[in-house]
Amino acid sequence: MTIEIRQFPCLSDNYGFLVRDKACGAVATIDTPDAEEINRQLEAAGWRLTHILNTHHHPDHAGGNLALKEKWNCEIIGPREEAARIPGIDRKVGDGDIVRLGDSAAKVYDTPGHTLGHIIFHFADDGAAFVGDTIFAMGCGRLFEGTPEQMWLSLNKIADLPPETELYCAHEYTQANAAFALSVDPQNTALKKRMEEVKKLRSQNTPTVPTTLARELETNPFLRAEDPSLQNAIDLSGADAVSVFAKTRALKDAF
Ligand code: ZN
Ligand code: FE
Repeated sequence: MTIEIRQFPCLSDNYGFLVRDKACGAVATIDTPDAEEINRQLEAAGWRLTHILNTHHHPDHAGGNLALKEKWNCEIIGPREEAARIPGIDRKVGDGDIVRLGDSAAKVYDTPGHTLGHIIFHFADDGAAFVGDTIFAMGCGRLFEGTPEQMWLSLNKIADLPPETELYCAHEYTQANAAFALSVDPQNTALKKRMEEVKKLRSQNTPTVPTTLARELETNPFLRAEDPSLQNAIDLSGADAVSVFAKTRALKDAF
């Protein structure tokens, strides 16, 4: 591992993540949900903030940018396609760009859907992806700006990462997502088992993030639009994946 990750809850259901390059001590915060809490975490760890990596423009992801930049004079790196909405942005990045953090590196993927410019950061050498609000444990982000087709393609970029990849989602939505997942994929034994595990973890207030891609491929209905039993459960047997995904997302919105 070339990085170490410090994860902490903040706001009502967000997670914050600090990423430190072990070789030279550069430290990035993934998004800026809560500048005060990020500063407390930096102080507790004895780390100095050098970078902000933004996934998208929502206030619970970029709202602390300016306060942190003022304190640390850090470089803000964010999505090119929505750069106008990222406070204090210094460097605009998009699909295929490499972001260096000391000796460590993350590859950027465009994942439009939740917002039109949403990006994720994949630290391939460490098997860690910071996925913002694109994918959650057993869920995916709401389609505030993009189309179902865009989001389906974005989720498939994540699905093509190595299965052991740890997915650092920006919210603890897991238990509610699992309840919905069971409603559209009731025969899925891996899902039933996972629901029990999640209930236990949450009753002890233990985070369910990060998850792994392998686990999501088995249990996340938004990655399973090609699964015949899910298609059957939502009355779309044999339909194309985008239609199945779109209906699953619409059902979740109304759940
Ligand atoms: Zn968001
Ligand atoms: Fe969010």
